[in-house]
Amino acid sequence: MKRIVVIGGGISGMSAAQAAWELGGTIPGGLEVVVLEREREVGGKARSQRDGDWLFESGPSSVPGTEVAFDRMVRAAKLDAQRVASAPESARRFIVRGGKLRELAATPLGLVKNGVLSPLGALRLAGERFVAGRADARDESVYDFARRRLGSEAAERLARPLVNGVWAGDPHKLSLPAAFPRLLEFETRFGGLIRGVREIARMPQREREEAGTLSGPSQHTTLRDGLQSLPRALAAAGNFPVRCGVSARAVVRAPKEKGGWFVHADGGEPLHAEAVVLAGEAWA
Ligand SMILES: Cc1cc2nc3c(=O)[nH]c(=O)nc-3n(C[C@H](O)[C@H](O)[C@H](O)COP(=O)(O)OP(=O)(O)OC[C@H]3O[C@@H](n4cnc5c(N)ncnc54)[C@H](O)[C@@H]3O)c2cc1C
Repeated sequence: MKRIVVIGGGISGMSAAQAAWELGGTIPGGLEVVVLEREREVGGKARSQRDGDWLFESGPSSVPGTEVAFDRMVRAAKLDAQRVASAPESARRFIVRGGKLRELAATPLGLVKNGVLSPLGALRLAGERFVAGRADARDESVYDFARRRLGSEAAERLARPLVNGVWAGDPHKLSLPAAFPRLLEFETRFGGLIRGVREIARMPQREREEAGTLSGPSQHTTLRDGLQSLPRALAAAGNFPVRCGVSARAVVRAPKEKGGWFVHADGGEPLHAEAVVLAGEAWA
């Protein structure tokens, strides 16, 4: 039997493990999937805690309801009935500028009226469709991408707070292909962000799903007991072992005649695996 070791039991690691386990049935001789998680429970950044009627999320709190990958994992975890869509009012987004809350309008003119952008900044934003795509495939930060496509003002006043809100991270340090692969695809496949949004909206449902976007309202979605309940449910299903409290220390190539890798972890013998998925933190 072949084996895959997944290092990290966050949302990525648990989803990768579930997907590998589903594939396992098609592999002659079968496939064993093992997850190693350093902490005492799965979830990684996703930490959901209930206190009476209150749900506290100290990490991610929602994902776009149109994400195919999320939808697939929710169904695999049998959590469909737990889905909660955000209230329509929450589609209104605000930033603070000059000590005031300002609504993020959907049009450049609206952004000027609400004091988010200057007329010049809005003009530059509206010109996004005329910005040519980049010729080389070098990695680019989210901030540089936003500045190149939308202009400096929109990068500072729109992209920065939005990225902070989603990732709680610095847009100068986040890689665009890693953090927002869909935006990069809009540029490479459709020639820009505005064009990408329009093209996706025009696509027949099937094609849209293949592009990773479900039809339907684009409200954000979470689960009744928080996003951590997704990795928790995948672990509880018992399809593959999840070893919590076990840190992977090293991944070493196995001798040529054996092939694959040895994963050295706390306690026990090194685990031999045909493939290893690294789903620890980005810097790990
Ligand atoms: C405050 C905050 C708010 C956010 N809000 C949103 C949001 O609303 N919507 C959204 O889509 N995204 C949001 N994000 C981003 C989202 O949380 C992350 O993209 C996502 O949770 C990352 O999951 P992951 O599995 O890739 O990594 P992690 O969650 O970091 O999981 C990595 C796991 O690997 C384990 N690990 C690391 N090293 C080892 C090792 N050597 N051996 C064994 N295990 C190891 C860690 O213990 C951890 O459990 C937010 C992030 C933060 C911080």
